[in-house]
Amino acid sequence: MFSLLKPDFAITSVVELTLEILKELQITTLLLDVDCTLKRYNKLVPLPEVNNWLKQMREAGINLYLVSNGGGVRIRQFSENVQIPFAAPAMKPLPFAINRVIRLMNYDKKTTAMVGDQLFTDILAGKLARIMTILVKPQGENEEPWFARMKRPLEKFIIKR
Ligand SMILES: [Mg+2]
Repeated sequence: MFSLLKPDFAITSVVELTLEILKELQITTLLLDVDCTLKRYNKLVPLPEVNNWLKQMREAGINLYLVSNGGGVRIRQFSENVQIPFAAPAMKPLPFAINRVIRLMNYDKKTTAMVGDQLFTDILAGKLARIMTILVKPQGENEEPWFARMKRPLEKFIIKR
C-alpha cells in the first residue's frame, strides 16, 4: 500500500523538468495537476517561470493535459489562459480521468507522467493508472519535512544512468 504513495520522483517545481531530463526519462506526455502545482491556489494564471516552462514544453512537442480536481469553471478559465486542454473535476485519486485522457488522446502509458503536489490525489491516481508519478512541492508553501525526506533528486537518477 505504501508504495502506491511513493512517487517515482520528487522535485521542487515543474520547471526542474527540463527537456533533457524528460528525454532521459523517455517521457513525452505530462498530465499536470493545476492548483499548487502550476499556480497558487487563488490565482487564475500560472507563476511566470511556470508559464515560460509550459511554452517551452509545448514548443518542443511535449503533450500537455491538465488533470484537476478543481471545479470546472475555474479550471476552464485557467485552461484557456494557458491554452492546454483539461479534465476537471477529475476525482483523483480515482484513475478514471487519467485513463480517459490517455485513451482519448491516444497517449502511451509508458511515456506519460502524472505531475502534482498531493500524494493522496495526484500520486495515488497516477500509480493506480500505472504511469510514472512526479511529486512537486506545493507552490506558495514552505517546504515540509516529509517532502524533504522523500525528495529524490532527478540528477541522481540521471547520473546513475
Ligand atoms: Mg494540487
